[in-house]
Amino acid sequence: MGILEQFSLKGQRALVTGASQGIGLACAQALAEAGAHVILTSRDAAMLAQVAGDMTAAGHSAEWHVLDVTDSAATDALAAKLGPLDVVVANAGIARSGTAAETADDALVQDVMNTNFFGVLHTARAFGGQMLGAGKGAIVAIGSISGEISNRPQNQSYYNASKAAVHHLVRSMGAEWAGRGVRVNAVAPGYIETQMTKYAMVDDPVMAAKWMELTPMARAGQPEEIASIVLFLASSAASYMTGSVVTADGGYTCW
Ligand code: NDP
Repeated sequence: MGILEQFSLKGQRALVTGASQGIGLACAQALAEAGAHVILTSRDAAMLAQVAGDMTAAGHSAEWHVLDVTDSAATDALAAKLGPLDVVVANAGIARSGTAAETADDALVQDVMNTNFFGVLHTARAFGGQMLGAGKGAIVAIGSISGEISNRPQNQSYYNASKAAVHHLVRSMGAEWAGRGVRVNAVAPGYIETQMTKYAMVDDPVMAAKWMELTPMARAGQPEEIASIVLFLASSAASYMTGSVVTADGGYTCW
């Protein structure tokens, strides 16, 4: 197979969680452009219907299902209904602020862990279980540079912890399933322009300037710049990669 053909997902089915906007939507579009039938999921039926409609109108093959990744039973049920997929992108996530020492609200911490860590666990376990039955598949989780560093300007201690847990889950699952045909990898983005970072990038110029000062490339990333790495990890071009966490942060973690 030629090098460019290795990036093709023609004839494959690829599911993305949190696909209604931002990085998840860019991933769905990249996977569709590579030839996959894409399965868009999130909690918002109206957004999904619109996005899937736009993709179909653009000539891609798409369907959508409402899925809250904090719901383990619902995730298992969708995985059983769809059967073994070729690619699953565990992207859904939320960000909340609070220092480790001063956050008294466990419910807030649990909310973050339930979405960011348990959401990835439910997704990888349910769809990965189906893949193991088929003896093939690729899972890509969206972690964060915050899973590797404390990322001081943000004071998001438990967001950081949730992403560190995702990175280690990916390393562990990657090793566990390495001999069974299922690869598990993650991308750790730096600052990417989405709804999640709008509170700083758009609404807080001082914070945005601080982020850019800490980023050697001096700019935020675009969702498409993460989606291209997800496509690589999902494709057979990454056939020797599992348990890896790939950083894409404009150099943020170099300093
Ligand atoms: P957005 O806020 O733009 O999108 C988040 C997506 O996740 C939405 O589609 C949302 O859909 C979905 N979602 C949230 N909670 C759930 C849930 N319980 N079940 C299913 N879907 C859910 O964020 P981004 O695109 O920026 O972030 C995507 C991922 O990338 C996240 O994991 C984030 O932590 C990570 N990341 C982002 C960075 C950035 O700078 N933007 C940097 C590093 C990592 P809905 O609410 O409709 O369900």
